[in-house]
Amino acid sequence: MKASRMLIATLKEAPQEAIISSHILLIRAGMIRKLVSGVYNYLPLGLRTLQKIENIIREEMDKAGSLEILSSAIQPKELWEESGRWQKYGPELMRFKDRHEREFCLGPTHEEIFTDLVRTEIKSRKSLPLSLYQIQTKYRDELRPRFGLMRGREFIMKDAYSFDLDQKGLDESYKIMYDTYCRIFDRLGIDYKIVLADTGAIGGTGSHQFMAISDVGESNIVYCNCGYAADEEKAESMPESFNNDEELKEVEKVNTPKMKTIEEVSNFLNVSPKKIVKSLVYRDYANDKFVVVLVRGDREVNEIKVINHLGIAEHEIALASYDDIKSIGSVEGFVGPVGLSNIEILVDEEVTMMKNFVVGANEFDYHLVNVNYGRDFTGTVKMFRAAASGDKCPVCGLPLELERGIEVGQIFKLGTKYSASMDCTYTDEAGKNVPMVMGCYGIGVTRTLSSIIEQHHDDFGIKWPLNVAPYHAVVVPINYKDETMKAGAEKIYQQLLNAGVEVILDDRDAKPGFKFKDWELIGIPYIITVGRLAGDEICEFKERSTMEKVEMPFNEAISTVVEALKNIK
Ligand code: ATP
Ligand code: MG
Repeated sequence: MKASRMLIATLKEAPQEAIISSHILLIRAGMIRKLVSGVYNYLPLGLRTLQKIENIIREEMDKAGSLEILSSAIQPKELWEESGRWQKYGPELMRFKDRHEREFCLGPTHEEIFTDLVRTEIKSRKSLPLSLYQIQTKYRDELRPRFGLMRGREFIMKDAYSFDLDQKGLDESYKIMYDTYCRIFDRLGIDYKIVLADTGAIGGTGSHQFMAISDVGESNIVYCNCGYAADEEKAESMPESFNNDEELKEVEKVNTPKMKTIEEVSNFLNVSPKKIVKSLVYRDYANDKFVVVLVRGDREVNEIKVINHLGIAEHEIALASYDDIKSIGSVEGFVGPVGLSNIEILVDEEVTMMKNFVVGANEFDYHLVNVNYGRDFTGTVKMFRAAASGDKCPVCGLPLELERGIEVGQIFKLGTKYSASMDCTYTDEAGKNVPMVMGCYGIGVTRTLSSIIEQHHDDFGIKWPLNVAPYHAVVVPINYKDETMKAGAEKIYQQLLNAGVEVILDDRDAKPGFKFKDWELIGIPYIITVGRLAGDEICEFKERSTMEKVEMPFNEAISTVVEALKNIK
């Protein structure tokens, strides 16, 4: 490709809203352009890389025996009602009506569609197991679309669905996908961790997430050297007991004027936050009730654990307002479990291991001291706290560590959640209709593209791994008007083309520095410069990943690129 014929849309600056490297570089390198918030156009260079990522995913999915289909983004409401998700999915679901007032959504995921397809097409147990996938555009009206392609309202996902006879079959299908995902992310050059995950709105019995390690990731990974790793929503830790050999003391009401936060109460009463219990009131909109969640003063509530306990969706819960708290007979800033009636109290297990602790008195400017679980109040005891760095690993007891990651993929054991509610069955040997056992498997393709950049860039721009680079090499004559340089550059260009290399000839009438800046920003892996030694068939060979430059004969430069291509995964 001649550079003069390309759409090179590089920019010196990215718009202010771009704050993470991948967003900045995708815009500056002219790979994407924003249309509206969370919705992007892919320019030629961006699309080339996107298609390479898709092809690697496609190759590995095909190898795993999954069959590619393509379904519509438009999905009828009726299918979502069958699965029960039309209500449950919340405002992220982009809903619309056609001219006949029939309701639809733009698919955020495709469990209903694939289940419907399979229940219609497959009846015989002989057709199972079956695995289907697609690479397709998804829609989610995200609360905060941000970070470029990381969290879009329109994005590309590879989604796959497996259908098995039984749980054992699902376990096998799941393992195949787990291994396939490892191969995909290995080939894409991603540094990732596999973590135990919560099953969220999709539901099911088991799940793993594939997390690209990155400080800009929106997920917290909790992990231990023993191999335990979990998404923070799912993470567990051993409860810590603190001073629990004390004698039980009598409850006392103490005046704590204007002392609302844990820090204020801790300073005022001169006790450690570990001797105080935090009481948070949540409103459960699904069941139209309130719950109080208790954790130790230095802990945070893990809302996902609360949501899972209540069996509701994420958008169906919120912290209670000042008036809500009044309505349950308490006061904001002074909430506590003692004396609250007609309200479910969720108690983090650590609270039951504390002795003589401080809680709000449900009375303005008062707290209770020397409160004890069991004697003074009771509730539902589970882990409701967020695991924190330094907590003991639930498997081996060593200290847990925290790291940030970008969720690039997630796999789920769905079981019969969709097949049972949507009647996707096969006939067993006894002639009985049995629901198929399903799994679903997603990769955020466009988010993966951003993640590759997060892990492969420097101050000059993107450093594409060779197998996803929009082009493999670029030949840059220092001065295209110089006949010798032009002839030399064209010779290398032609030979690389003949060898099947995706190569650019920078035939633009521009200063060399300007050209180099473009290619370094765009991230072409090999930059071959033809300058003053062109007559001797010597060029300068630069590897983008290291920025190391070496002078070498034309032939050697050509064979270096050709060899590198032979070795890519
Ligand atoms: P998140 O927790 O980041 O919102 P999710 O768990 O809701 O993601 P899934 O339903 O598991 O997402 O979707 C499968 C994959 O699609 C995710 O692992 C992620 O890589 C990608 N993905 C999800 N939402 C978006 C989005 N808004 N923009 C880009 N990619 C996304
Ligand atoms: Mg997910």
